[in-house]
Amino acid sequence: MPGKRPTHLRARRAVIDAARRMNALGLNHGTSGNVGYRAGKRFLVTPSGLDYDAMTPADIVEMGFDGSHAGTRRPTSEWRFHRDILASRPDVDAVLHSHAVHCTALAVHGMEIPAVHYMVAAAGGTAIRCAPYRTPTTQALSDVALPALAGRRACLLQNHGVIVLGETPDACVNLLVEVEYLAELYIRTLAIGAATGNDPKIISQRKMAEVLEIMKTYGKQPERASSET
Ligand code: 13P
Ligand code: ZN
Repeated sequence: MPGKRPTHLRARRAVIDAARRMNALGLNHGTSGNVGYRAGKRFLVTPSGLDYDAMTPADIVEMGFDGSHAGTRRPTSEWRFHRDILASRPDVDAVLHSHAVHCTALAVHGMEIPAVHYMVAAAGGTAIRCAPYRTPTTQALSDVALPALAGRRACLLQNHGVIVLGETPDACVNLLVEVEYLAELYIRTLAIGAATGNDPKIISQRKMAEVLEIMKTYGKQPERASSET
């Protein structure tokens, strides 16, 4: 888009900021991963294979839900799951995919993250599912990611990585922080289990139902009145 001011400038900046933040926090590396953000009846995605630090708002690709896009940059090769998630999940406006190492280590084993800690409920359920392996960039991958995300805001992708959903790209990074913590925690408890012969204790479905109820208000503050600074 040379010389032309890109539309949805704030949203484009939010996409870039989230991509940079996930890498800066060690939750992704290099040009792996991607970010999508609803923009009216269309959506924005990171371009494929571009360095997040070098990216400018004009590099972000605006797409239609029919898969069309304008401009010179190619959209993320995973635009299909960004499109399909945003089309089928009106409860979220942002999608973030990363290759966070602890999430991916569990995903290599095709393992879900069970309720090892009550914060599993932050992703909306009693476990964080792992979608079966499908070739990256394909519609088949999107087709297995959607059911793994049903009623949830995170899922692992076997032998690949993780997807998190949220209201904004920034909120996705915040949830990714939690999910990667849970993945690392679970791996450590499995190591203790292997050394001691004791399996980690998993919170029961009934007790997790209580947490899911608490999570509706947990960690949320009322909106600030506009007169407050
Ligand atoms: P893109 O650079 O095309 O977004 O691909 C990164 C990735 O993680 C593919 O799964
Ligand atoms: Zn990937």
